[in-house]
Amino acid sequence: MDFLALIIIVTASPVFASQCVSSNVACWPNETAWRYLSGAIVGEVVLPSDKHWKSAIKLKNPRLNLIPGAVVMAENASDVADAIKFAVSSPVPLALSVKSTGHCYSGNCMSTGSLHLDLTRMKGLTLDTAAMEMHVQPGTNFEAMYRAADKSGVQVVGGMCPTVGPVGFSLGGGHGPLIRSYGLGADNILSIDLVTAAGDSVTASLNQNAELFWALRGGGGGAFGVVTSLTFRVHPAPKQLVSLSCAWPLNRDNQNVGEPIIAKWVKDVMPALPDTWHFYTIAMKQPLGVKVRKFKGRTMNGLLVLEGLFNGQWGKDMLDAAAPVLGLGPEEQLKCDFANHTSYKAWHDQAWFANEGPIPFRTFMASSFVQPNVDTAAHAKLLTETVTSLPKFAYNMMFGVQLGGKVSQPTGGLNATSISPDFRNAFFMQENDADWNKEKDDESQIAWARSVGDAVAALPGVSGAYQNEPDPSKARGGEYEELFWGADNFNKLQQIKGVWDKKAMFDCDQCVYNKPE
Ligand SMILES: Cc1cc2nc3c(=O)[nH]c(=O)nc-3n(C[C@H](O)[C@H](O)[C@H](O)COP(=O)(O)OP(=O)(O)OC[C@H]3O[C@@H](n4cnc5c(N)ncnc54)[C@H](O)[C@@H]3O)c2cc1C
Repeated sequence: MDFLALIIIVTASPVFASQCVSSNVACWPNETAWRYLSGAIVGEVVLPSDKHWKSAIKLKNPRLNLIPGAVVMAENASDVADAIKFAVSSPVPLALSVKSTGHCYSGNCMSTGSLHLDLTRMKGLTLDTAAMEMHVQPGTNFEAMYRAADKSGVQVVGGMCPTVGPVGFSLGGGHGPLIRSYGLGADNILSIDLVTAAGDSVTASLNQNAELFWALRGGGGGAFGVVTSLTFRVHPAPKQLVSLSCAWPLNRDNQNVGEPIIAKWVKDVMPALPDTWHFYTIAMKQPLGVKVRKFKGRTMNGLLVLEGLFNGQWGKDMLDAAAPVLGLGPEEQLKCDFANHTSYKAWHDQAWFANEGPIPFRTFMASSFVQPNVDTAAHAKLLTETVTSLPKFAYNMMFGVQLGGKVSQPTGGLNATSISPDFRNAFFMQENDADWNKEKDDESQIAWARSVGDAVAALPGVSGAYQNEPDPSKARGGEYEELFWGADNFNKLQQIKGVWDKKAMFDCDQCVYNKPE
């Protein structure tokens, strides 16, 4: 692209604040400049006056109402580089934001008035079973990745929701049902192609730009450059997988019968499971999505559901390891059903909790990492009281994701990536999701999510939070940095950011940011 021509088209500007946003007409490029950029790339620029504008700025969480200044729908890495060069070479550099599939709960993948880079059209995916590698572009998603893996008899680490994409997911950590077998999404990255703040294309791997590679695997998106493709390690798939779905009431006949079951589950049963088992622990007001025929709304209040996946065949090992789960609160048990699945994809396709999750509800959440020394009685009490006191038709829920296994023993050691020590040491993550439909409920639902999140975080033996599922109200300057990365990692991440993005071109909420000068 001819940037000299472009600079002449862009409105001349006096001196402004460090980055230009669209509300500042004196520094924001005029329509001619945008149309010039649009003509120079394979993709296109969408402006507020264009008919695709509304769909171009839509994020998955309808609570968010962020309006960028222009959207670049990129089709390839060179479009990304052109857009970045356009932003950087503007008389006042333009504020940038980037999304891959736009599942950011907090909204940190889009910023008001920015040049927004949309990578949803970059859906490339190739699988090399000889090298056991999957090569993906940022706009693809787990549905496509699982389909490709399944066809070739391999497995790839991804998350639960089929529409979520691999980039934001894995740069921020990335949990899913196979992490205890193979490590986090970040642990499975073999190499990353990205465009830097200078508009250069670089590769980061163990052998090239190793410090950047360390930073990207855990440091999160939006900070170090724009990822245009990723290579993941894939794994041989077992011939069969087994699932187990169990349920108990939280309260029956005005007694908190679920509380001791949760306490025993968290204290004794979950930590003793082999790495081949992975469980989600879900506490909800009533059966939402999950089928529990024996749940009686008149006498029962709240439901505890355990959804397990055994990454291996039916057999004695699987049954022996599952026996303590079946033995939990037998008198109160509403169901404990095993099922066989021919592949991970076959299991994923039928899992009720793989649906769109809380989306398209308005969503606000918080998450915390639960450490082995957690006060299990206090945790069980908090979970039970929180869920049973929800209004009758609430969608809000408490969602626990089992960690440990290979998450705590990553290839290359605990410091091989910038994943926080709190993430590595935890044995599960406790999330609380507020999901609702009407804007009028925003205030009360956000207050619920924040106060429950803070109560979980204050429990003895809870430390750290998951950057991809954060309480978005934790502010820069001390509220989220240590929670997401730990102090040492955050310090190193800032140093590396200073090397790759000296002028702080990439900046987003709750991301790694440049050290103040
Ligand atoms: C319904 C739903 C289910 C989910 N389930 C899971 C789950 O099972 N496990 C889990 O770990 N997480 C889960 N998440 C959270 C998910 O990991 C994050 O939302 C993640 O950021 C999504 O990735 P994305 O590629 O859509 O990133 P985006 O939402 O597009 O962006 C997230 C961040 O990364 C930056 N970014 C985006 N693309 C790039 C790029 N190409 N280069 C550099 N930076 C970039 C953005 O600027 C932003 O800061 C879920 C989210 C939703 C909405």
